[in-house]
Amino acid sequence: MPRFTRPKGTQDILPEDQPYWAHVQAVVAQMAQSYGFERIDVPMFESTELFARGVGEGTDIVDKEMYSFKDKGDRDMTLRPEFTAGVMRAYVENGMHVQPKPVRLFSTGPIFRYEEPQAGRYRQFHQFNAEIIGVAGAIADLETMLLAWDIYAAFSFKDLSFQLNSTGCPACKPAYLKVLQEYYGDYHDVVCEDCRRRIVSNPLRVLDCKQYQCQPVIAAAPRITDHLCEGCAQHFSELREYLDVLGKPYTLNHRLVRGLDYYTKTVFEVWAEGIGAQSAVCGGGRYDGLVELLDGPATPAVGFAAGLERVILVMKAQGISVPALPQPPVYLAYLGDISRQHAVRLLADLRAVGIGTQIAMQGSLRSQLRQADKREAKFVVIIGDDEIERGEVTLRDMASGDQSTVAAAAVVTLLRDRLP
Ligand code: AMP
Repeated sequence: MPRFTRPKGTQDILPEDQPYWAHVQAVVAQMAQSYGFERIDVPMFESTELFARGVGEGTDIVDKEMYSFKDKGDRDMTLRPEFTAGVMRAYVENGMHVQPKPVRLFSTGPIFRYEEPQAGRYRQFHQFNAEIIGVAGAIADLETMLLAWDIYAAFSFKDLSFQLNSTGCPACKPAYLKVLQEYYGDYHDVVCEDCRRRIVSNPLRVLDCKQYQCQPVIAAAPRITDHLCEGCAQHFSELREYLDVLGKPYTLNHRLVRGLDYYTKTVFEVWAEGIGAQSAVCGGGRYDGLVELLDGPATPAVGFAAGLERVILVMKAQGISVPALPQPPVYLAYLGDISRQHAVRLLADLRAVGIGTQIAMQGSLRSQLRQADKREAKFVVIIGDDEIERGEVTLRDMASGDQSTVAAAAVVTLLRDRLP
């Protein structure tokens, strides 16, 4: 065991896994851009208060999972446990609310949560995040859901489906929470300790409890969709109509409440055939109160976040292959000290005209050629001391194995013509 090992719940993304990452990042960015979303990058750490307020006290993320620290200026900081609070902070701080609506934004990057690691669950992981800001209508919910769906479809994921629920709004949610709390009053002695605590601190969360003894209580619990105000009910049925028109399969799931405080109206997840059981690959919903909560003007918004590690896990489980990363097409091999000098000069000349080139650093010519093969070079220039005296080098086409002697002075032009 080496003395230094990576922290629990983190991963090294080794070169052999980078093609997956490059592909996934490129596809999500391209897809988001083609749907009209613009990229925004926000800091990896923000004030702890932003997340406490935006994500909400009483949520698992804020209560248990944040990587919080004091910086050297004695400020309370937290490594971002999600994107939305930071993106909304940036939206307000940069005066983006004066832009024509909707503002559509996407981000990708690392997220940090102190969770118990398991397959597909890490302490540092990556999310793709998208938001549509400034539209109250269900068309915006639909558009975020379609982006989420189409991203997974682009990766050839099988058996996609939506899980869908509404969590109401400030007009109807409090009354429903009272009904739920009253109902749970009768089961105080039956449900788990967490639920006894949650029913007071964060009542909706009792609905996604996984404890065995709570299941019958949850199954018979009052459903929020029976308690929505007219506006929320209308919004929910409009969204379902769109999904029906498009033939997108969804399951109404009254237990889907999602971990964060800020959701209003729609909440959804995309499920895909994963490793064994069906698993959530992304989740999101509407958060009409969040911008205002962060001291911006009242602004409706909706969005989702997708875990990229899970995308890659599912891609591997489904045997989906990805394009290899491009390698430098030219490799310079040489035989002796004089040729090394020439090779170094040629290296600079080739790079100066934009031709990706690697130079051998050690070993016999044989092992240099093996390296060139392994690095998938398209052409190898072999420089020998005798040849170079005559002003010549050898050019080998690795695909065909053809080898020819060419004038050293012409090799840059020759390669430029032969490479795409
Ligand atoms: P959430 O922000 O919790 O709604 O999560 C959105 C998505 O991020 C999930 O559907 C997962 O794909 C992914 N995700 C959440 N937590 C983790 C984690 N600890 N490790 C890896 N992926 C995660």
